Amino acid sequence: MGRCVMLVSGERLLLTDRTQPKQELREALLRRGVVVRGVVQGVGFRPFVYRLALEEGLAGFVGNDTDGVTIEIEGPEERVKAFLVRLRTETPPLARIDAVAVRELALDGDSGFRIVASEVLGRVSTGIPADAATCPDCLRELLDPKDRRYRYPFLNCTNCGPRFTITRRIPYDRPQTSMAKFPMCPECQREYDDPLNRRFHAQPNACWVCGPRVWIMQTADSESSSGEEAVEQTLQLLMEGKVVAIKGIGGFHLSVDATNQAAVMRLRERKRRYGKPLAVMVRDLEAARQVCVLTAEEEALLSTVARPIVLARRREGCGIAEGVAPGIPWLGIFLPYAPLQHLLFADPRVRTLVMTSANLSEEPIAIDNEEALTRLGGIADAFLMHDREILQRCDDSVAAVVDGAPQLVRRARGFVPMGVELPLGPNLEAPPLLAVGGHLKNVFALARRRFAYQSQHLGDLENLTGLEFFRESLDHLMRTFEIEPETVVHDLHPGYLSTQWAREWAKERGLKTIAVQHHHAHVAGCMAEHGLTGEVIGLALDGTGYGSDGKIWGGEVLIARMESFERFAHLDYVPMPGGEAAIKEPWRMAQGTLWAAGFDISSNETLILVGATEKEARVLARMMDRCVNAPLTSSLGRLFDAVAAVVLGRRMVDYEAQAAIELEGIAVDEPDDVPGYALELLVGNWDAHEPRRINATPLWRELVEDLRIGTSKARIAARFHAGVADGFARAAVLARTATGVNQVALSGGCMHNRRLARLLRVKLEAEGFEVFQHRSVSPGDGGLSYGQVAVAAAMLNQSKLSREAN
Ligand SMILES: [Zn+2]
Ligand SMILES: [Zn+2]
Repeated sequence: MGRCVMLVSGERLLLTDRTQPKQELREALLRRGVVVRGVVQGVGFRPFVYRLALEEGLAGFVGNDTDGVTIEIEGPEERVKAFLVRLRTETPPLARIDAVAVRELALDGDSGFRIVASEVLGRVSTGIPADAATCPDCLRELLDPKDRRYRYPFLNCTNCGPRFTITRRIPYDRPQTSMAKFPMCPECQREYDDPLNRRFHAQPNACWVCGPRVWIMQTADSESSSGEEAVEQTLQLLMEGKVVAIKGIGGFHLSVDATNQAAVMRLRERKRRYGKPLAVMVRDLEAARQVCVLTAEEEALLSTVARPIVLARRREGCGIAEGVAPGIPWLGIFLPYAPLQHLLFADPRVRTLVMTSANLSEEPIAIDNEEALTRLGGIADAFLMHDREILQRCDDSVAAVVDGAPQLVRRARGFVPMGVELPLGPNLEAPPLLAVGGHLKNVFALARRRFAYQSQHLGDLENLTGLEFFRESLDHLMRTFEIEPETVVHDLHPGYLSTQWAREWAKERGLKTIAVQHHHAHVAGCMAEHGLTGEVIGLALDGTGYGSDGKIWGGEVLIARMESFERFAHLDYVPMPGGEAAIKEPWRMAQGTLWAAGFDISSNETLILVGATEKEARVLARMMDRCVNAPLTSSLGRLFDAVAAVVLGRRMVDYEAQAAIELEGIAVDEPDDVPGYALELLVGNWDAHEPRRINATPLWRELVEDLRIGTSKARIAARFHAGVADGFARAAVLARTATGVNQVALSGGCMHNRRLARLLRVKLEAEGFEVFQHRSVSPGDGGLSYGQVAVAAAMLNQSKLSREAN
């Protein structure tokens, strides 16, 4: 403070210097009011402003206000200008500036620069920042024997550390976090109070003297060892092939040596997770390059402070056990993001560790020490615990570089609860909304004004544990953003648990509900991400979504506006013999699609093709002939399943989209420009609002012929992808002819398929379309609630506008 006052009074001395014309000096002095919007609270923004003001010798103050940060600065013109430039160019790493508004103010004549308490500027609605990976400064301290935090597993600063996951309620201040029970030692307190220290107001600030501690438990009732010894013992157990549950930032991980096949298989057995790939944490970028072939974009994505799991091409002979990601050419890898993880990797013996969410199959991740011991007792051989409570469950995020740019597959730790902008058109804002998302991979969203706040990935809402997690998170986010929804948005499917819950919840509170069709929500989400408010051609390609006609959609060409849509074309309906069972057993889908394509599914040739018995074929044929337990679907995901069953012999799947992922995987080295199998466009009467149908009969004939002549599986898979992309691109051309619309939005879970996303974009661009893909919101069901918010907000705005017009 003293330094600041001195500098400022220095400038004032100039003012009274009578050797220069007084007028000129008065003109050179300015006061400006600055309002900064974006992610600027709890990320070291105020101390950053404070330092800038000191360095530029300016007077004034900085404080948090309702939506951001308010600054007033006063001083010589050039200094004020320099300050405003540096405000944008030297922003601290975790901050994100969305807008800066500057206004002129009368000179105040104050001296010195202050950080004012929040209350001074009125009611504060401080959001909670997302969790951030250990920063380079802290990492240096962690490994510096001379530092007082040498090897301390919980060090952090203003630029890094847990945030969202340790916060109970707003405002984001230490007493509201799970750090409340650790009073700071004098040394930590001094750092916390000093605006020039990089731990100024770092809420989780801690050290060996005052902070949380670690220990390891090998049986449920005894504490084996703590501190350094616990870390050492963990390493020892991992090297012996044991399964260790390690408490992290958003939950427990289950860890084994990623190069030890027996250990990996033991973990799979105990976790009852047989096929689904396991994430691998690698020591650093160099180790990442040794296990995967990485592009510059992938390296950048791995290194972001959110530290997502990144899906990348596995390097041949990289030493990672086969069982980590069986049957696919990719690995999900990520870098350490917590000091405790860095400590494990500081040991030269450790380069790669499986780090998978600690749960049983699709249950929510375990966060509590007692909960972990109970739920994971049969899985882990030991538990590396700590006493900093995790208050919000949050899985690791998953991302991939799709068609040259990063795309989020699962938006959780490191991203939540950051808002995603909701462009609804000029001067339009969302009223307070809750959108509950879908059924699988549930994520809900709260919206207000121009932002949607998505929850962390909550998993499948098929059981009460899932629903409990949903309620917990909803309570927390409603408190965090102080949003009281006026409208509840849900999927059109009457049977979804999320729909039923939404209706009951709305009824209890007397709120309006809006149902949004699944694929409309997908396309609207992509539109909103790119600020498209007009009409677009939406390709919504996914596994399952309830259609307006009660059938199961998923291969859709929509003419979409934010508030409404028409169905222009769709994959021709085929039966799903056995209903839900056909999703878990792709051989059933193969029978269904071949039956629809006019094959005799009881013939020897087809039975061999599909890997079905004569009896199975008879049962299925009866279901389909009589339309019993054989609902109709236009899903592209199911077509992928059917093709995978025939080409790869994939009779059953262990996890969602497995068949499609394997089909994409086997084609990974094939060129893009292989001739695609033909899809036939059957004309519907568009004037009578009858959609066109995209029929796969010729595709099946060509595919079966390719199998007969011994074409490689890789080539067949590539030709299939090319055919699908061709077929939908041609349908888009027809849609343009009918409507004149030239913008295409790509959405739905199939857009995680990198080959398909790339081929579609290339083919559509070759036809002269402008193509939009999801980036910060998942194209799959994890992004559904964001699209639901966009649709509902547009509907509500439209009815409001029409009311105003009347
Ligand atoms: Zn740090
Ligand atoms: Zn301390």
